[in-house]
Amino acid sequence: MPPRMIKISEICTETPFHKTFYFQDVPSQNGNPGQFVMIWVPGVDEIPMSLSHTGTRQAVTIEKVGDTTRHLFQMNPGDLIGIRGPYGHGFHHKGQNPIFIAGGTGIAPLYPLIKKMGKGHVVLCARTSQHLLFVEKIQKTGAHLHIATDDGSQGFQGTAVELFQNLFHKIKADGIFTCGPEKMMAQIVHLALDYSLPIQASLERYMKCGLGLCDSCAIDGLHVCKDGPVFDETLLATLNDFGKHYRKPSGKKTPVK
Ligand SMILES: Cc1cc2nc3c(=O)[nH]c(=O)nc-3n(C[C@H](O)[C@H](O)[C@H](O)COP(=O)(O)OP(=O)(O)OC[C@H]3O[C@@H](n4cnc5c(N)ncnc54)[C@H](O)[C@@H]3O)c2cc1C
Repeated sequence: MPPRMIKISEICTETPFHKTFYFQDVPSQNGNPGQFVMIWVPGVDEIPMSLSHTGTRQAVTIEKVGDTTRHLFQMNPGDLIGIRGPYGHGFHHKGQNPIFIAGGTGIAPLYPLIKKMGKGHVVLCARTSQHLLFVEKIQKTGAHLHIATDDGSQGFQGTAVELFQNLFHKIKADGIFTCGPEKMMAQIVHLALDYSLPIQASLERYMKCGLGLCDSCAIDGLHVCKDGPVFDETLLATLNDFGKHYRKPSGKKTPVK
């Protein structure tokens, strides 16, 4: 499936490490929170990105980590990128008192869901206050925001898992939505299964096709691109490699850091 060439309509610097790229793309308008698109930077590479904004103004929010994201950070409004998708299964919004647990850039796919549901609690965790994404936007959604930073520069000093454990009995959440580093999500899933709480987690794996054909993102017989990226507690409980191993672009099985 060839990418659609679209113009970047606006670029917003969110933090020293993240930018949001807005565009007009009819299929992405109907994308659900948790779904992703494949972004092609001509002459560089094609990489998966969650939709951080859906509806009339679609966008992806990107952390600069390597070659392709560095090229994207050098682009300007009016420049062309290729886009395929939206792909995969997004979040199913259900529950009266959800808790959203985000580590770092993991808030990107959760934000449109938080906006849509407009209630519950958000645990937003990042390395430092400078890495916190979407603080003001979340404050406008109707959900209660709880911040944690690894270095204590803003909010609770500690991890998202510690803050969640502190809050859990006070807020009586009836479901968890999470995205972030896999070690963090694995601990949250473990706690959710212990507490018999429904949970949906958005997983990341190296992806090439995004369509379930190339097997790059295979995990225990499933494809993160097609069966996920959002998995619920029933499927998560069956994944042996979740939180333990991922595959490098070469296919080599590697421990999750
Ligand atoms: C479903 C999904 C949704 C994502 N959503 C976001 C998002 O909203 N915002 C964001 O900043 N990042 C997101 N990512 C991660 C993003 O795709 C990678 O950070 C990006 O591909 C890095 O590309 P690079 O060339 O700049 O860096 P590289 O130097 O190539 O790689 C840096 C890191 O990104 C990983 N990576 C590289 N290429 C891919 C690929 N094709 N598929 C998956 N991982 C890759 C590498 O394993 C490595 O750990 C998502 C990944 C997936 C699978």
